[in-house]
Amino acid sequence: MVDFNNLTIKKAHEGLKDKSFSALELTEELFKVAANSESVLHAHLVLMHDEAIKNAKKTDDRIAKGNMLGSLDGIPLSIKDNMNLKGYGTTCSSKILSNYVSPYDATVVKRLRENGTIFVGKTNLDEFAMGSSTENSAYGPTRNPWDPECVPGGSSGGSAAVVSVGSALGSLGSDTGGSIRQPASFCGVVGFKPTYGTVSRFGLIAFASSLDQIGPFTKTSEDAKIIYEAISGHDLKDATSINLQPTSLPEGSSAKIGIVKELMGEGISDEVKGEVERVVKILESEGHLVSEVSLPMTEMAISIYYLIAPAECSANLARFDGVRFGLRRDGSSSYKMSDKTRADGFGDEVKRRILLGTYALSAGYYDAYYGHALKARNKVINEFKEVFTDVDYLISPTTPSTAFKLGEKTSNPLEMYMSDLCTIPANLAGLPAISIPTGVNAEGMPFSVQLMSPELTDISLLNFSSYLEKLIGFQEVPSKWRKEP
Ligand code: GLN
Repeated sequence: MVDFNNLTIKKAHEGLKDKSFSALELTEELFKVAANSESVLHAHLVLMHDEAIKNAKKTDDRIAKGNMLGSLDGIPLSIKDNMNLKGYGTTCSSKILSNYVSPYDATVVKRLRENGTIFVGKTNLDEFAMGSSTENSAYGPTRNPWDPECVPGGSSGGSAAVVSVGSALGSLGSDTGGSIRQPASFCGVVGFKPTYGTVSRFGLIAFASSLDQIGPFTKTSEDAKIIYEAISGHDLKDATSINLQPTSLPEGSSAKIGIVKELMGEGISDEVKGEVERVVKILESEGHLVSEVSLPMTEMAISIYYLIAPAECSANLARFDGVRFGLRRDGSSSYKMSDKTRADGFGDEVKRRILLGTYALSAGYYDAYYGHALKARNKVINEFKEVFTDVDYLISPTTPSTAFKLGEKTSNPLEMYMSDLCTIPANLAGLPAISIPTGVNAEGMPFSVQLMSPELTDISLLNFSSYLEKLIGFQEVPSKWRKEP
C-alpha cells in the first residue's frame, strides 16, 4: 500500500511512472483528504472533482501508451482564486466578483495544463489578496491545519493550507508583500516568491502591479523548482514579463550568507529569533560563512509598501464599476449605480486601501507621498545590490511570530500590517525569496526561515534552500486530517 501521507510531487511522479499507483487513485486519495478537512479548514472555495477525475484518466491513458508529459503529468495542484481558469469563477474572495466566470486561462494555468497538471480546485484568500490572515475573505476564513484556532496566514491562506493538509500536492499563490511566504511559514510548507517578472501575471487579477508575483507552495524546495520551471518564462501577454538569462550562485559548500540585522531586532519574537539562530549554527557547522549585514532601509519597508501598494490598487480596482465585471446594484444614474455597487461589493480592508491609495495619488499630495515612496523604494533596491556584492544569500525570519489566533489582529489593521515586516523588502526590490519550514514551537506550531538572493538567481536559491532543508531534516505534517485506511 502506498503511503500517501507527506507525498511530494517528486515521489508522486516516480510512483506514477513506475505504476505503483494510478493518477486516478492519487486524485481520489487527495479528494478524500479534502472531504475530511474542508468542513473545518475551508481552504478551497471550489473543488473541481469531476474535471479532476476526467483529467486523471487522461494522464493514465498517456502513461499506458508511454506518452507521459513530464514531472507534472497527473500531479494534483490547486490555484489561488485570483487567477483565471477558463470556465470557472475567479472571485478574488470578493462579493464584487461573485458571478464572474473567466473566459480564458491565466498563462500559469495554461502552462500547467500543457504539462498535464490536474486542477483540484480554487483556494480561499483575503479579498483581492489584501491581508495576512485570510480572514478578509467575503466567503469566510480559512483555518490553520496545525491548529484550527489559528489563522493560516494570508493572503494565500487557502493555498498554504491545502498543501499542508495534503488535499493538493502543490498550489499557486501570489505574493505582493509576503502573501506566499507568510502563509507558507504559518502552515509549515515551502513558499517561493520568484524574481519579479519571471512568471507571467497575465490572468492574475492585479492588486499592485509593480509588486505582484505568482509562485508555488509545496512540501519541498525541489517540488517548488519543478513548478517554477513549468510556469516561468517570457510571456508577450504581460508587459512586465522579463526575458533575461538567469545567473547562478555557489550552491552547497562554502556559501557566504548574510543575516539581516534589522530583521532580527524589535518586533520579532524571541522564539523566532532563536530558531533562525539555530539554523545559522547548522549552516556554520557545515562550513558556510555567516556574517551580520545591515539593510537600514528595511525598517522603512512597511511605510513604503503601504503607499505604493494602495496607490496601485486604487487604480487597478477602478475597473470594478458595475459595468464590465461582476456585481451590479441599480442606481438612478450611472454614478449612483457604480457607487452602490462598490459600496456593497468591496469589504472594509479593500475600501481602506482604495481610500489610502486615492489620497496618496491625489493632486497636491502625489509628490509628498507616492513620489517619496518611489524614491525610498530605489534606496531599498540599492541597499540590496550593495549587500549582495559581499554575500550570496540572505537569511532572516519569514514572520515576526508563529501563526496567531483567529480574531487576534482583525480590529487593529496596523498590527496586521506588521506581519509582513520581513517579507515586504524582497517585493520592493523584486528579489527571489523563499520560506522553508524548520521545526515546531512548544505549542506545535511551525517555524520557518526566509532566504533571499539577487535577482534572477532563482534556481540557485531553490537548490540552496533544498540543501538547507535536507540539513535541517524537518518533515512533520499535520496528519490528523487523514482517516486510517
Ligand atoms: N499582507 C500584505 C497586504 O495585506 C501582503 C499581501 C500580498 O502579498 N498579497 O497587502
